[in-house]
Amino acid sequence: MVSITDIREQTVSIASPIRNAVIDFSKMTISALVIETDLKRGGKSIKGYGFTSNGRYGQSGILRERMIPRLLSAHDIASEDGRNLDPFKCWQAMMANEKPGGHGERSVALGAIDMALWDLVAKIEDRPLYQVLSDRYAEGRSNPSVRVYAAGGYYYPDSASHLLETEMRGYLDMGFREVKMKIGGASLDEDRVRIERVLNIVGDGNRLAVDANARFDAQTAIDYAEAMTEYGLRWYEEPVGVLDFEALKEVRQASTMPIATGENLFSCEDSLNLIRYGGLDARVDFLQMDPALSYGLVEYLRTLEMLSAHGWSAGRCVPHGGHQFGLHLAAGLGLFGNEAYPGVFEPFGCFAPEMQLENGRVRLTDAPGIGYEAVPEIHAVLKGA
Ligand SMILES: [Mg+2]
Repeated sequence: MVSITDIREQTVSIASPIRNAVIDFSKMTISALVIETDLKRGGKSIKGYGFTSNGRYGQSGILRERMIPRLLSAHDIASEDGRNLDPFKCWQAMMANEKPGGHGERSVALGAIDMALWDLVAKIEDRPLYQVLSDRYAEGRSNPSVRVYAAGGYYYPDSASHLLETEMRGYLDMGFREVKMKIGGASLDEDRVRIERVLNIVGDGNRLAVDANARFDAQTAIDYAEAMTEYGLRWYEEPVGVLDFEALKEVRQASTMPIATGENLFSCEDSLNLIRYGGLDARVDFLQMDPALSYGLVEYLRTLEMLSAHGWSAGRCVPHGGHQFGLHLAAGLGLFGNEAYPGVFEPFGCFAPEMQLENGRVRLTDAPGIGYEAVPEIHAVLKGA
């Protein structure tokens, strides 16, 4: 019967001199962790690696005081045949004595452990995670070539405003076709100018998305939508407060722009409310729940099931986070694609050197698990945990 022998966690800085419409990232941290088992391959114990997604800081307290001790003391976390771990049983063990609702940031802490558990599950099967997922949950259909877009376009100081063009050109040179930029951190007039400058680089509106980071009230969001409609943009992200579904519905009804949201919803239940009350359209809008921020893949699978029951396909989902875990979910579960943060939040958004990025798609390798060992910058941090 496989068992977990050790879990080590550390807080890692991903500080970056950037800001969106609401926060700056100059003190941003994440929690990175390694889980060890009693299984060995090639004389070494099989390890799983995980980390929290960006934007919510490290979760050391919740990990050390609640999640890790519960998992280490759990008795029944193996699969039926005893040869692998069962992430669903692990999830139940970690959520023991947690009240329902009020998800706070325990969903972020649990998400990091869940990532490491799935890395382990796939390594124990000696296969890439996306193949394990497609066999278990998508009738074996998978596509290791994943559509990605470059998320950036943050605000630069006035003296360096030309860097916006440099940044966007850089993404296209790297092999991206689609990019995203921030809005709402300046006036509408200034943002229009910034959008037009980026459109001059990417060429076509459907290759550019904009992200307001939940900054606007309904009327400002609608004013922006009216001003941006002519550009034919890919999507308008988080126009209003993340839990203000009435305001979102107002924006949706006032505009034809596709809307994307969900990165700050941390449970299946919250996502259910979005679908019930947000007025979104399953044919044109996008959902960005990030499994690493919202109780992991175990909860994300519940969310996909809920979405399906409400007429939404996995093909409308583009997770936030820019981590390789999201790439495996996209490849193995038939998601629309995944976010990428080239050059930001390093090293956790880096791809492995073998992963080719071409024509807006990145190809996963056959490395077992998630494949963080193949990304030297990430592995250097994770193995130090
Ligand atoms: Mg966003």
